[in-house]
Amino acid sequence: AQRLSGRARRLKPSATVAVTSRALELQRAGHDLISLSVGEPDFDTPPHIKAAAIRAIEAGKTKYTPVSGIPELREAISAKFRRENGLDYPPNAVTVTSGGKQALFNAFFALLDPGDEVLIPAPYWVSYPEMVALTGAVPVPVPTSPASGFQLDPDALEARITPRTRLIVLNSPGNPTGAVFPLDTLRRIAEITQERGLLIVTDEIYEHLVYDAEQVSIARYAPEHTLTINGASKAYAMTGWRLGYAGGPAGVIAAMNALQSQSTSSASSVSQYAALAALEGYEETARFVALARAAYRERRDRLVSGLNALGLSTPTPQGAFYVMADTRSIHEDELEAARIILDEARVAVVPGTDFAAPGQVRLSYATGLENIEEVLRRLGALVGSSS
Ligand code: PLP
Repeated sequence: AQRLSGRARRLKPSATVAVTSRALELQRAGHDLISLSVGEPDFDTPPHIKAAAIRAIEAGKTKYTPVSGIPELREAISAKFRRENGLDYPPNAVTVTSGGKQALFNAFFALLDPGDEVLIPAPYWVSYPEMVALTGAVPVPVPTSPASGFQLDPDALEARITPRTRLIVLNSPGNPTGAVFPLDTLRRIAEITQERGLLIVTDEIYEHLVYDAEQVSIARYAPEHTLTINGASKAYAMTGWRLGYAGGPAGVIAAMNALQSQSTSSASSVSQYAALAALEGYEETARFVALARAAYRERRDRLVSGLNALGLSTPTPQGAFYVMADTRSIHEDELEAARIILDEARVAVVPGTDFAAPGQVRLSYATGLENIEEVLRRLGALVGSSS
């Protein structure tokens, strides 16, 4: 076998892989499996967005684009930041990437040196610590608890700052917790960031999926100290188009562009025209977003009340499309609990292991209500009660 790089060898193989491959095995064997493990909308991409992409293909807009994205799209993103987030990012402070994920990757590689420390509220989306570690920097988790609905305590964050701290990663609404950080928390974190000369990387990819809370962009309170990441995947049901973007200090954006120029060159041209239609046709897009949001809310309410009725304690998340259920009544160890749920209830969930969420599993409600009802019936049979 070929020798792999230290980097590749250090990449943590996902603890969820075992559960995922077992799920695939069961599916292949013809078992009727319901998956609540997905991280993508179950809705189709809205028609006006698809139509724009088809027009772009037919018009031959199928060539390389500028590294930072086509100028029209950067204009539209700049206008979106102003309209929806109250942020002033001129087009040269905006860059377009192959998904929010690549914007994060470029940002970490543009900003981190080996030994730098990065504060990451936990439970976290697994890619943050893994990407940070790839750069040689050190992820430092800041714990939050189910009892507080996974709210972040700015004092706990501040207590973990050292002379090596460089970045704070925020993700509100958050994956996997669904927590939305309130204005007071964001203001306080913005203050700390400025006082300590740090930088915030805020991942706002779930911004439109909020139910009983208001999503606020922290860049409003620390514009010079914030890089705002977003993308088309979750808001417009466009996961496969691979279209993300970032706005921030022009120097940081320029460094991200330099990295991109030597890796992917740019996001897909066709996807850029599709995203342009999503942003420019914003009334049509807003109707889609509102419908999706109402559907997610109804599903969330049913799933949360059903799980709690089964004794699987689940805080009500205010955003995104995930819930975190305490599965210790099924098994102390969440990996084991996820395996039991899969084998005996035929429901695929993600164990909290990789998210730093012991004793819990993540269930996604980006699926129809009838699936959620069936999942609750199956879990009821497993734990021996009914919801
Ligand atoms: N950020 C968070 C918190 C996510 O959950 C995801 C997708 O699962 C992404 C970013 C990446 O989305 P994309 O690369 O599709 O824009």
